[in-house]
Amino acid sequence: MQIALVGIGKIATDQHVPAILASPDWELAATVSRHGSVPGVPAFTDIETMLAARPDIRVVSLCLPPVPRFDYAIAALRAGRHLMLEKPPGATLGECHALRGLAEERRLSIFATWHSREAEMVAPAAAWLAGKALRRLAVTWKEDVRRWHPGQEWIWAPGGLGVFDPGINALAILTRILPDPIHLRAATLRVPENRQTPIAAELRFHHPDGAEVSAVFDWRHEGDQTWEVVAETDAGTLVLSQGGASMTVDGSTRQDRADAALAGEYPRLYHRMAALVTGGKSDMDLAPMRHVADAFLLGRRVAVAPFHD
Ligand code: NAP
Repeated sequence: MQIALVGIGKIATDQHVPAILASPDWELAATVSRHGSVPGVPAFTDIETMLAARPDIRVVSLCLPPVPRFDYAIAALRAGRHLMLEKPPGATLGECHALRGLAEERRLSIFATWHSREAEMVAPAAAWLAGKALRRLAVTWKEDVRRWHPGQEWIWAPGGLGVFDPGINALAILTRILPDPIHLRAATLRVPENRQTPIAAELRFHHPDGAEVSAVFDWRHEGDQTWEVVAETDAGTLVLSQGGASMTVDGSTRQDRADAALAGEYPRLYHRMAALVTGGKSDMDLAPMRHVADAFLLGRRVAVAPFHD
């Protein structure tokens, strides 16, 4: 199937392009980007022009930041194209519902991707946790924003999510591995005086059986980066680390694919998109987004030191 990739920036170049080029399912038939392009691939700077010029391209994959994404998504759906969305699937829940509704109405496939759910050990962690009684679960997502988002102004603007841009990956994993539904109970959002979005956040969730479920996200962390979930159960403690690439149970390693962190995630997403389109199906799970929206609704805001890139 032919696919058009929109928003040729960091994640498109690092992950989407290699995954598409290596896939037997896809042909990268066009790009849409105001500045970026992929060598050898027809390049457009405007989505409406691409949609009009290339009716043969049935699938569009959007890698833009969340705020500009909605207009591109609506244009693609209105033009009858199946749609794959980078995370988060929109800047608001309202946008996500509107996209899902339009895709349903037009009988088009829509896929809200959560790449972290495709990390090597996320499915094994979900399988291990099934049927066990959870006592405590703690998420620690601490990274250096200067290292991962140099010069990206959109993450600090309204709708850019701030530290929830990586934090939503933890929430995507959490909502995949926990057998029981959780919802947000309290949040603290630490917002730099000179910015619109949080640089750090602490979250506490309600769990139906009273387990303590919490998360700490922090972008001010230098040195070793931590993307970890620790789940204590009646039958042992599971640690999922390296963003889901490694897993231990009671200290013994089940598998460590930290070397392959991210590498398998995007090929699996594109494989799934091919299956959704072929099967006439959609996957638009908004659970991670709902927790973020709740944090912004309920969160106590604390002003912290200004952030300069
Ligand atoms: P990025 O490099 O800053 O932006 C991607 C491209 O989108 C830009 O190169 C730009 O291309 C286009 N763009 C930016 N602002 C735009 C605007 N206002 N209107 C139209 N186009 C605009 O961002 P990214 O890091 O790739 O992230 C994009 C999405 O992928 C985000 O939702 C992010 O959460 C997700 N993601 C990122 C990573 C990562 O490691 N960076 C990992 C996983 C997922 P042109 O200027 O050429 O149009």
